[in-house]
Amino acid sequence: MLTFQLLKTEGHARRGVLTLNHGVVQTPIFMPVGTYGTVKGVMPRSLHDMGAQIILGNTFHLWMRPGLDVMRAFGGLHGFEQWHKPILTDSGGFQVWSLGAMRKITEEGVHFASPVNGDKLFMSPEVSMQIQTVLNSDIVMQLDECTPYWQGDKASGHVTTEAEARASMALSLRWARRSKAEFERLGNPNALFGIVQGGMFEHLRQESLEALVDMDFPGYAIGGVSVGEPKEEMRRIMAHTPHRLPAHKPRYLMGVGTPEDLVEGVACGVDMFDCVMPTRNARNGTIFTRYGDLKLRNARHKADPQPLDPTCTCYACAGASGVSWADGGRDGFSRAYLHHLDRCGEMLGPMLTTIHNLHYYLNLMQEVRDALDAGTFAAFRQRFAAERARGV
Ligand SMILES: [Zn+2]
Repeated sequence: MLTFQLLKTEGHARRGVLTLNHGVVQTPIFMPVGTYGTVKGVMPRSLHDMGAQIILGNTFHLWMRPGLDVMRAFGGLHGFEQWHKPILTDSGGFQVWSLGAMRKITEEGVHFASPVNGDKLFMSPEVSMQIQTVLNSDIVMQLDECTPYWQGDKASGHVTTEAEARASMALSLRWARRSKAEFERLGNPNALFGIVQGGMFEHLRQESLEALVDMDFPGYAIGGVSVGEPKEEMRRIMAHTPHRLPAHKPRYLMGVGTPEDLVEGVACGVDMFDCVMPTRNARNGTIFTRYGDLKLRNARHKADPQPLDPTCTCYACAGASGVSWADGGRDGFSRAYLHHLDRCGEMLGPMLTTIHNLHYYLNLMQEVRDALDAGTFAAFRQRFAAERARGV
């Protein structure tokens, strides 16, 4: 089941409510990535506290481990990982594609060797639908071929040509039809999204989206961005495609991006985002704050009593009281302490920085929703850019 209610628009930007089998999602929304059935280092309770409404799971990795028999025994991913709000699963296509030389793509599907034990395996639109039906995710993604920006590696390869992008996009459309047919045959009660491809070519994106709209999916994703292209190429596609999709259906921009990309994406008409950046960067000591990015490993933080972001109310910055440093709260953890934990390789370090970075992304989207509710998104965009440029 999926219903999408459009509450308000400002330019291409949209404020909406998405209702799924496991709950209601206020959009625009950022979805934390939970690859192996866990958002790395974060308890579901913390996700709940920081306002996460929907998280991702990874079809390919969960198929490899623990496998479908275990998933079936738990009635799907929600019961297994004890997260009872909505879940979106990807199709597994991106991971299979990432195997490089270890896989072979044919019309029928993708043959590959398991990276876990070397077993010969086969992924097809039908197999992806079967796995995602067992996972019982609220949003299921069609199997697509994620068209890369580079064919081969950057040193010896070439930028994908129009002919290559067209062939890849056409394959994804045929797989979209097969995904939909299998999803319906299985009687999956959730919602299947089609994925727009077409590389960096607007006219191919247009062809792809028109064919997918004819197939009448309950929601649409824009794939094949954040695949190694320069930032301005990504922004060009982001400006082209989202607002051309049906207004009454949710739009999901896959794998993007920085806080700036999210705000620009909303301005282009995107409703849903996911990215590993807040979680991965947290583990590498790169912290997102209202006033720009902070490098925790920098020696200047060694004795700094301030929290990561003085305006933040997350557990890392404001402790159990939830009162930010700027509002007089002093229960949070200092930059000095988090710098120390990182230097010592202590587990608590990345746990706290991950809570902060995810809270930052989720709170940013809350501020975006508030601005859209108030009809002040244009002013918000300017203030956001000025604050981020100020520096920490
Ligand atoms: Zn924080």
